[in-house]
Amino acid sequence: MKAFWAQSSDMARLRESSSGGIFAALAGVVLDSSGAVYGAAFTDDFSRVEHIRIDKLSELGRLMTSKYVQSHIYKEAYQNILTDLDNGRTVMFSGTACQIAAVKNFLGKRKFDGELLAVDVMCHGVPSPRLWSDYEAYLSSLLGAPLEFINFRSKTSGWTSFSLQCRACNEKEIDVPHGRDWYMKAFLTNHSLRSSCFECPSKQSCGSDLTLGDYWGFEGGEGGPIVDEGVSAVVVRTPLGEAYLEAAVSKVQLGAASYDDIASKNPALELSVTPSEGRDGFLSDVSSGASIEAMMSRWTFERGFLDKVKGKVAALLKGRR
Ligand SMILES: Cc1cc2nc3c(=O)[nH]c(=O)nc-3n(C[C@H](O)[C@H](O)[C@H](O)COP(=O)(O)OP(=O)(O)OC[C@H]3O[C@@H](n4cnc5c(N)ncnc54)[C@H](O)[C@@H]3O)c2cc1C
Ligand code: SF4
Repeated sequence: MKAFWAQSSDMARLRESSSGGIFAALAGVVLDSSGAVYGAAFTDDFSRVEHIRIDKLSELGRLMTSKYVQSHIYKEAYQNILTDLDNGRTVMFSGTACQIAAVKNFLGKRKFDGELLAVDVMCHGVPSPRLWSDYEAYLSSLLGAPLEFINFRSKTSGWTSFSLQCRACNEKEIDVPHGRDWYMKAFLTNHSLRSSCFECPSKQSCGSDLTLGDYWGFEGGEGGPIVDEGVSAVVVRTPLGEAYLEAAVSKVQLGAASYDDIASKNPALELSVTPSEGRDGFLSDVSSGASIEAMMSRWTFERGFLDKVKGKVAALLKGRR
């Protein structure tokens, strides 16, 4: 399978993006040709994430960056995709592999005048929306006002040491390294993920044209991209995906990469993660309505010696695939 590294040539877009900004470059190609782009955006109060449709470059910022919470797709979004395609418009649908599979399933074998470019993200899994809305309320009460900005993947300390950054309407702000934020620890230790993410039915088989991810462990070398600004990994799955990637070359630096190298550095490309031992208890606390403060004192996510050994063994076994 063909694979590439990519980095946006537009520094402002690159800094706004989670990894190398390839999503914004591809979306730019579609919007430049009067197409429509669907992707995950926060609601106005930041308490939820849902898929929206945009057809203007000025709206692209809403879809950018990874939101580590399940994005809801309303029936109207499926219907709008169908209408756009029937009207001969190009549609770029971006999301997780299971969302791509759902859209493809909805469209079935229908024929359209428009073209569907389906782009999935390499996916660790998605946390419970209930947990996020509770945490969002906790953050705004901590800051003393409703939130007006949130970024799970802020690059204020660089791409590899990304942080969760949020700002409230009263200008107060927090910027916490991902390894120290409680919500991010719940996500990364696999306590807050949906059950289906532990046996993902869609990775590698959702029918996407391109798969995008972080190119963790990228070795640039002289003349290559500045790695700590973020580098994307791109897997090309169809000729349509390849054509759109080629059309985006004026917006990105792009180079050939090895699929095996990407998969070995980023197991989420092919494999589902393993649930943590405490995951069921954690999610039952979430659904019982426990406060975030109570959850924080009960769930610290400090890994015991045994957990660390288990983690190392699992990583070694994955590396042997
Ligand atoms: C929940 C989640 C888990 C991920 N896990 C990994 C991983 O384990 N390894 C890895 O390499 N990459 C992972 N990614 C992908 C990675 O974080 C970047 O999204 C990807 O590299 C694209 O980055 P970018 O710089 O090109 O664009 P960005 O602008 O950062 O990407 C935005 C894209 O992400 C989509 N998106 C954002 N939030 C959601 C959401 N909640 N649900 C569905 N789609 C969403 C948008 O629709 C858009 O397509 C994950 C992304 C998400 C959302
Ligand atoms: S891991 Fe699979 S099931 Fe879970 S959100 Fe990602 S694509 Fe969907």
